[in-house]
Amino acid sequence: MADPIEGNLKGVRERIAGACSRVRRDPAAVRLIAVTKTFPASVVERAFDLGLRDFGENRVQELQQKAEAVNRPVRWHLIGHLQSNKAKVAARLCQVIHTVDSPALAEKLARESTGKALEVLIQVNIGGEEQKSGVAPEQALDLARAVRGLQGLRLCGLMTIPPISDESGARRNFRAMRDLRDRIRDQLQDSTFCDLSMGMTDDFEIAIEEGSTMIRVGRAIFGERT
Ligand SMILES: *Cc1c(COP(=O)(O)O)cnc(C)c1O
Repeated sequence: MADPIEGNLKGVRERIAGACSRVRRDPAAVRLIAVTKTFPASVVERAFDLGLRDFGENRVQELQQKAEAVNRPVRWHLIGHLQSNKAKVAARLCQVIHTVDSPALAEKLARESTGKALEVLIQVNIGGEEQKSGVAPEQALDLARAVRGLQGLRLCGLMTIPPISDESGARRNFRAMRDLRDRIRDQLQDSTFCDLSMGMTDDFEIAIEEGSTMIRVGRAIFGERT
């Protein structure tokens, strides 16, 4: 049976390299997170064996089931909304939580992050959309200050899921995220506040051109979800 993942992955890597070369960025500075939601553990193992190390899931329960089934030293990223009653499991299984959106959730994660510095990003609702989680851009600095005081967490930057839009709209939102990251980094005087988790199958090249350091890609690698 033909396995499209290898060819798809090669194509994605070429597109990452192309976007990086257009803006003179080092491809090594863009982390590819393979989003495996709805796909079985065997697909994670296959992708790992093709060289991928970072895997993203948007639901804690599915991440937990997959993490238990996958027999590889995967770095798990939680990229979907996290309810505080699932913070303990998420802190135990994940290397990176992309969706911190309140001081209370950050405190819970810090308490449960035993023996490791859990990397966290603050989710920003850059389009101000009613149905999306994340803090408003104006609130991100205050939350960053609160998270940075917590032992057990390592605050790395910002994440967003922008509104659906055309290329120029996407670019505007990604640029707003980069400006926000720069402003917070300057305010905190913290050069390690550097990550930008943004860009998915339909827009990751634009996101890279605008400074993304973590792209979250599902369909371009694994095909359409059913
Ligand atoms: C599903 C998902 C992705 C990946 O989306 P694709 O369009 O399949 O690349 C990225 N980020 C989040 C938060 C997701 O839920």
